[in-house]
Amino acid sequence: MLAKTNLLRSSFSCKIVPKINRGFSEVKNNGRLAGKVALITGASSGIGKETSLLFAREGANLVLVDIDDKRGNEVAQAVKDLGAKAIYVHADVSKLKDSENMVAIAEKEYGKLNIVFNNAGISHADDDNAVTTTEDVWDMTMNINVKGVFAGCKYAIPALQRAGGGSIINTASFVAILGAATPQIAYTASKGAVLSMTRELAVIHARENIRVNALCPGPLRTELLMKYLNTDEKKNRRLVHVPMGRFGEATEIANGVLFLASDESSFVTGSTFLVDGGITAAYVTPL
Ligand code: NAD
Repeated sequence: MLAKTNLLRSSFSCKIVPKINRGFSEVKNNGRLAGKVALITGASSGIGKETSLLFAREGANLVLVDIDDKRGNEVAQAVKDLGAKAIYVHADVSKLKDSENMVAIAEKEYGKLNIVFNNAGISHADDDNAVTTTEDVWDMTMNINVKGVFAGCKYAIPALQRAGGGSIINTASFVAILGAATPQIAYTASKGAVLSMTRELAVIHARENIRVNALCPGPLRTELLMKYLNTDEKKNRRLVHVPMGRFGEATEIANGVLFLASDESSFVTGSTFLVDGGITAAYVTPL
């Protein structure tokens, strides 16, 4: 993926750095996450990748987690090329031992953990309605999308307590709010679980200076969705319901995550944070 990006020759060092983002290209000295340590799951692709690059530019030191090691290491290298610190950790978030290990590595490497973005998730190709969806598809979806978020919180919360507080952002989805006649029953149920789990965690830990928010992206132009919506007909079946008339970009979601991660959202916890192009607000959309 990175190999396909344009290359930009820096006028300072003649070093080749990938030109990936549309925003600032270097780490800011007094960025919105300066001095913070952030762990991001699902960092190899889509929302996780764009958030990693944005967090780096805003001054965070990063632990990037995924099961796609090749792309994860490429994102880590891109972060380092921006001038920030990053380590890549292979962890399957559905395995408690892996989640425990990723948090332990964060504290060992940087001495603390301040921000956790539990973002890894799947949408299985055979996920359909209740009659046709198999037990295997249901279990796999729940293990990654729900147990993975539980595991991330289970091991990160003690680390945030040791750091004196912090911010957790769990990726749910607009489908936690809306039903769709193009069903993915396991995925939808999993995102509803993330939303309600996040709300309860926020209340439990509110007086420990730990904020927990659920990010609910709308339909995006990332691999997760576009691998299914591979015809104009399939795309338009969804787009008619989006007031803005387009899919969102991963960078637009990353900007929402940055707000929730930073101290700018210091009075925001337990929220259903929608970044969805207005889809959950619409009865009738513009022509
Ligand atoms: P993506 O497929 O581009 O990225 C997901 C990443 O998670 C991949 O790098 C993948 O390797 C990783 N991953 C999958 N299983 C894992 C596991 N067991 N352990 C660790 N990492 C694992 O998808 P995306 O669009 O960036 O989605 C990120 C999150 O946003 C997901 O939770 C998804 O459900 C949610 N979301 C996406 C959309 C959308 O339209 N794309 C909308 C709403 C919510």
